[in-house]
Amino acid sequence: MKRREFVRSVGLASLAGPLGRYRSLLGKTPSSPPPNIVFIMADDHASQAVGCYGGRLNRTPHIDRIAREGARFDRCFCTNGICAPSRAAILTGRYGHLNGVRDNARVFDGSQATFPKLLQAAGYETALLGKWHLESDPTGFDHWCVLPGQGDYYNPDLIEMGAKTRRPGYVTDILTDLAVDFIEARKSSPRPFLLMLHHKAPHRNWQPAIRHMALYDDAEIPEPPTLFDDYATRSRAAAEQEMTIRDHMTLESDLKLGPPPGRMDEDQKKAWEAVYGPKREAFRKAGLSGDALVRWKYRRYLQDYLGCVAAVDESVGRVLDGLDRTGLASRTLVIYTSDQGFFLGEHGWFDKRFMYEEALRMPLVMRLPGRIPAGSVRDEMLTNVDLAPTCLDAAGIKRPAAMQGRSFLPLAEARPVSGWPRSIFYHYCEYPAEHMVKRHYGVRTERYKLIRFYYDIDAWELYDLERDPRELRNVYADPAYTGVRRDLASELLRLQKLYGDSEELALHFVKADLKK
Ligand code: CA
Repeated sequence: MKRREFVRSVGLASLAGPLGRYRSLLGKTPSSPPPNIVFIMADDHASQAVGCYGGRLNRTPHIDRIAREGARFDRCFCTNGICAPSRAAILTGRYGHLNGVRDNARVFDGSQATFPKLLQAAGYETALLGKWHLESDPTGFDHWCVLPGQGDYYNPDLIEMGAKTRRPGYVTDILTDLAVDFIEARKSSPRPFLLMLHHKAPHRNWQPAIRHMALYDDAEIPEPPTLFDDYATRSRAAAEQEMTIRDHMTLESDLKLGPPPGRMDEDQKKAWEAVYGPKREAFRKAGLSGDALVRWKYRRYLQDYLGCVAAVDESVGRVLDGLDRTGLASRTLVIYTSDQGFFLGEHGWFDKRFMYEEALRMPLVMRLPGRIPAGSVRDEMLTNVDLAPTCLDAAGIKRPAAMQGRSFLPLAEARPVSGWPRSIFYHYCEYPAEHMVKRHYGVRTERYKLIRFYYDIDAWELYDLERDPRELRNVYADPAYTGVRRDLASELLRLQKLYGDSEELALHFVKADLKK
């Protein structure tokens, strides 16, 4: 698909659905039109690498602009810290045991209710660009153009409405071009729109754009205090995973000591070699081992990860500029988030999955001029199942009862809200699988976190986040925490009941899978 053809196709399609549909569904002509929604989601973008979260590592001026002109949420958490489950939870407002996507191997049932579908039914023009990762074809979108599976960083294939073509260039830039073109083509459209822009970056194996490959060559990249964590006091789940920088990060692919990616064209390969060739030589001469090698790997990892983030931040800037240029900014809700966080060397790890803070937390900033006060900072506890009801709320659409989340738009708008939840429930169940993070679920309250590891382990962990924000001291067996432990166990049970989940249900799914 060529970019212009995509723009033409979305331009023509927009004529097919008049504003009348929106009016008729509301039963009246809206006094002020509902806002457009631009939902930008990165893949594995940890809040530690977002400037406005006080990041030690980098600057993200464009993402920060959304926070400065709108709201920053400091406690948004995923309910299952891997790609497909988080995406399904975001679309449906439901946990994985109900929406069917409990791990990355599931095929999303596209017949169920999603917030894009409900917006579409209410007259919104809906578009999806980028990473999808839910196996089935997207539903609820007037236009979709997605990466197959994880997608490629360079010269990626794109599937537009079922037709696959390869596009030259860098994936973040290509998706941004399509998004900006979509916005420009909506300039005079009477219909409100939803645009979901889902970046592949900064997912493993962290291939930056050519212009960003050497961006962090001379940068100071502080190490996290837990880089050499020994996992003392914790369950064996922390020690037995396979996601350490020391042992599981590959020199060839992850750290670019191998040849350039086969998908690159000759010019791209030359540019790659110019940057990574000298690094390869220097590495061979240095003869590193032990902790020195871990330090080198950490630095090399972060240089590429942050390089990928730089293009995502530029993308946000171009989208915001597009909204300014078209005059749409004042009536567009812009959301930036990531499907979950990521370990950037904390606990000696990369990847995510664990219910520990760095992976659990999602960056979340949003802007809606005239409704969300500029510079708001909120610390209420949210999860990714709250995003669907929030987008519906912004459009004036009532949340279906089956959605388990709750709109946090009133919090963003600084309206009085009573009874906001003060705990969140998490359940990760992709095991045994890549990175070998054991199955676990748990509850996080404002101060504490209780985690239960099960399946081939029977273990509990309890953290006092106020005294131990880095989660290094498991106090589950500490008599001083007996009362806290009891309260948390009871809160965990309450949340399981509330959301219809249990260890037994999870084991039932395991047995059902084994029978297949
Ligand atoms: Ca992800």
